[in-house]
Amino acid sequence: CGIFAYLNYHVPRTRRDILEILLKGLRRLEYRGYDSAGVGIDGGNGKDWESNARTIQLIKQRGKVKALDEEIHKQQDIDLDVEFDVHLGIAHTRWATHGVPSPVNSHPHRSDKNNEFIVIHNGIITNYKDLTKFLESKGYEFESETDTEAIAKLVKYMYDNRENDDINFATLVERVTQQLEGAFALVFKSVHYPGEAVGTRRGSPLLMGVRSDHKLSSDHIPVLYRSSGKDKKSCGALPRTDQDTCLFPVDEKAVEYYFASDASAVI
Ligand code: GLU
Repeated sequence: CGIFAYLNYHVPRTRRDILEILLKGLRRLEYRGYDSAGVGIDGGNGKDWESNARTIQLIKQRGKVKALDEEIHKQQDIDLDVEFDVHLGIAHTRWATHGVPSPVNSHPHRSDKNNEFIVIHNGIITNYKDLTKFLESKGYEFESETDTEAIAKLVKYMYDNRENDDINFATLVERVTQQLEGAFALVFKSVHYPGEAVGTRRGSPLLMGVRSDHKLSSDHIPVLYRSSGKDKKSCGALPRTDQDTCLFPVDEKAVEYYFASDASAVI
């Protein structure tokens, strides 16, 4: 029941720092209630952030954020000292509505075994059975019992069937949300769009925080953006934005971006 995503944009951060920021965000959302937690981060251990972003690693655990923290530190293949100029990490605390609390039902959910697209979700997708049936008929194999997994599969389906090779991430996500019924706040990450995040919402809360470079050295509170109107469509594509489809603005000088379910996670 909590979303937290953190994008450092041309401000170097070690994987250790990034994970600490993600876990801190989740801890601040703990009061909302949850039964499991998970993160999605870049998997590569090389020097080049862009090639590191071509693989995604998921770590998910039932129970408290502390249990997730322990699980992260058990991973042998994660080098915590790798530095990323640009990195998007997405993190989630789940309050199960569809499917028991378990690692596989925890978020992020993934499009396929290669983790091409991953997504975190708050809310309920009421037409997920129809979407699942359709996607299964196209050969997608589901691994969880959640409503959310259909979103992760649908975004890959839309990507694989795109008619324009240059389709941007925000447009792709917009096509997905057009098919969704119910309530959602979503943040997407993909190996096909290194260093880009897309957040979108309908009915569930999501806000974006932006910190600009001249403020980094201090403890300055980031600027927060809330979408206007209760059920109005809003999305943010970071750092490249499609202004027409987004209500969240992008700050030219921004070096850190956040998506979060509420302000307490960011400030
Ligand atoms: N409906 C989704 C699930 O059961 C999301 C629940 C939530 O908002 O945490 O996984």
